[in-house]
Amino acid sequence: MDDVVIIGGGVIGLATAWRSLGRGLRVTVADPEPAAKASYVAAGMLTPVSELSYGEEALLHLGRASRDRYPAFVAELEEVSGHDTGFRDDGTLQVALDSDDLALLGELRRYQESLGIPAETLTGRECRRMEPMLAPSVRGGLLAPADGSIDPRRLTSALLTAVERLGGTLVRERVAEVLTEDGRAAGVRLDGGDVLRAHQVVLAAGPWSQDVKGVPDGALPPVRPVKGQVVRLRSTTPFLGRCVRGLVRGSSVYLVPRADGEVVVGATQEEMGFDTTVTAGGVWELLRDARELLPGITELEFAEVRAGLRPGTPDNAPVLGASALPGLLLATGHFRGGVLLAPVTGDVMAEVLATGAMPEVARPFSPGRFQE
Ligand code: FAD
Repeated sequence: MDDVVIIGGGVIGLATAWRSLGRGLRVTVADPEPAAKASYVAAGMLTPVSELSYGEEALLHLGRASRDRYPAFVAELEEVSGHDTGFRDDGTLQVALDSDDLALLGELRRYQESLGIPAETLTGRECRRMEPMLAPSVRGGLLAPADGSIDPRRLTSALLTAVERLGGTLVRERVAEVLTEDGRAAGVRLDGGDVLRAHQVVLAAGPWSQDVKGVPDGALPPVRPVKGQVVRLRSTTPFLGRCVRGLVRGSSVYLVPRADGEVVVGATQEEMGFDTTVTAGGVWELLRDARELLPGITELEFAEVRAGLRPGTPDNAPVLGASALPGLLLATGHFRGGVLLAPVTGDVMAEVLATGAMPEVARPFSPGRFQE
């Protein structure tokens, strides 16, 4: 019998598994297609400051705590797995195209400063000095020096290797239901009928977490799928030096460069249920806005377009820790920031699984907040 069965092998389930194995727990991850859903589509920005939204200070705190853990997290992961994760900490430049966009960036800067985060304001010329491919029409920008990026595909394949190297088990099968015994979660039954018994069960199945059978309604997380389309381009010469997030006449677009020449352009945000169709309109909007900021993108090779499903919650923040069903823990609802939040989530969940104690940093994100 295992100590822990984790339902879902996306970046959240895998980070939880790896950190829990490091605490000496016996862990199995069940997933028919690990690392193939949102965690495969994600751009990989690690940008808690650049993505700050009003009223999300607790989430900012969690995001900065996770980003601060990233250098040590990837150093250890790269050593254990032997994989490069594509981690970069070269900052994120936010730019504005017209004067309304610039005014919005000014508001963001004041909000950041009110929270004690120093922001560096740049003129259009200074932005172009940093990123020569930017259009002459870019009016100005803000630099978040500590916001970086990682390649989520490399990250999850490193996590998969690390989990196996530390003795974790990966079962490539869907969980049909959570099993209970004496009012506690006691394991899971797989689609094929096999049972995996465990002292604790972690539900980390992204937006599918709301559907898992055998869990009383009050214990399921309030997650929903939020569709996002992203385009991947490829450059043979260095195109950008860092992440660029842009406001283009009120709409947002971002570009994330990788050392291997990939440039990820994202992302739409659509309430379409579990639909993952890529649409002409979605791709057109992304490329239209990206081209306004960086006209040279039209020369890049078009490599891929994909849609993924972010696990959204009513307050845009994750759901972490003990559920209303004893023995069942939740680790989902990371919405736009699951890659950013993987290190802190892995550490928090491993601590709860090993000791039963919820670390201070994660207390605002307990499932109980939706039951009040
Ligand atoms: P997923 O990666 O969706 O994994 C859930 C897993 O559960 C899947 O592998 C699935 O097969 C499995 N599963 C489902 N049902 C079952 C079952 N019954 N039994 C067993 N397994 C099951 N985040 C960032 O931090 N930075 C970004 O730049 C960023 N960009 C994004 C861009 C887009 C377009 C999208 C869609 C997301 C982006 N995100 C980003 C968000 C990030 O991708 C998610 O928050 C994160 O991937 C969630 O990870 P997860 O492991 O919870 O979910």
